[in-house]
Amino acid sequence: MILIDGKKAAAELRAELKEEVAELKSKHNKVPGLTVILIGDLTPSQIYVRNKEKSANEVGLKSEVIKYPDSVEEKTVLEKIQELNSDETVSGILVQLPLPKHIDKQKVIEAIDPSKDVDGFHPMNVGNLSSGYESSIPCTPLGCYLLIKKIEPNLSGKKAVVVGRSNLNGKPMTQLLLKENCTVTITHSKTKDLKAECLEADIIVAAVGIPELVRGDWVKRDAIVIDVGINKTDNGIVGDVHFDEVSKNAKALTPVPGGVGPMTIACLLKNTIDCFKRSQI
Ligand code: NAP
Repeated sequence: MILIDGKKAAAELRAELKEEVAELKSKHNKVPGLTVILIGDLTPSQIYVRNKEKSANEVGLKSEVIKYPDSVEEKTVLEKIQELNSDETVSGILVQLPLPKHIDKQKVIEAIDPSKDVDGFHPMNVGNLSSGYESSIPCTPLGCYLLIKKIEPNLSGKKAVVVGRSNLNGKPMTQLLLKENCTVTITHSKTKDLKAECLEADIIVAAVGIPELVRGDWVKRDAIVIDVGINKTDNGIVGDVHFDEVSKNAKALTPVPGGVGPMTIACLLKNTIDCFKRSQI
């Protein structure tokens, strides 16, 4: 079984991006800039944002974090986004989710200029992705896609099962696999027989949030299995896939941690650079 090393793949991607940033700098005499808005003091969000900032600096991006307290008014955040939209030194804007309850998440997402939407959540980018046009692609599914392509460069005709249909993961993942000419089944909490669906799959992407949902006898021999889940349990962090069982059957599997997670941040950097490049055309 191939253990898909997301840490290594992310380090390789960051090294490529670092070179690209250096080339862009010498060509345009400026570097792509990522601005993250962080609201409140939720510890996981603070950790994510710190990691994003560290990785952005590592590849040579201009990086900035704007912090607001939990009590910040929605209007203040929307005004700041407008300011960043028209700031030429800002290539990408990310508002760290979740937001406090009094702030309308969709309003915030839609306030970001789609050409600076490095999360790929703006309806314009969602529509472009599903229409097969160029767009920012949500970072986690993009990371999964790059890992799958490393194992199997030609996905045409493969059967893929995506478990979970969130806007963040399942739906964009489905679009990416469709674009590669996979036959894709998207499953969710109302799917009648998830095991039977998974047993058909050459590729399984699990993005559910239920610890070890996908079992060893759900997986065809030689399947590629990507585990997006990050679940805190009494035994530590586990994914949505039963690692020990599935590793006995699968051709390739991502571990948790150390699989998809590291690729997510690397893909955020990639999206920032891609936004910059599109803005220079
Ligand atoms: P989400 O928004 O809660 O969506 C979960 C999806 O799973 C929903 O579509 C839900 O179906 C489906 N589902 C729930 N129970 C199911 C069941 N028994 N069988 C089949 N499908 C079921 O979750 P998310 O934001 O996509 O996150 C999923 C997991 O990925 C979480 O563990 C999260 O922490 C992790 N995550 C990891 C990264 C990373 O960088 N590695 C990034 C983001 C998220 P319905 O639509 O019918 O409710």
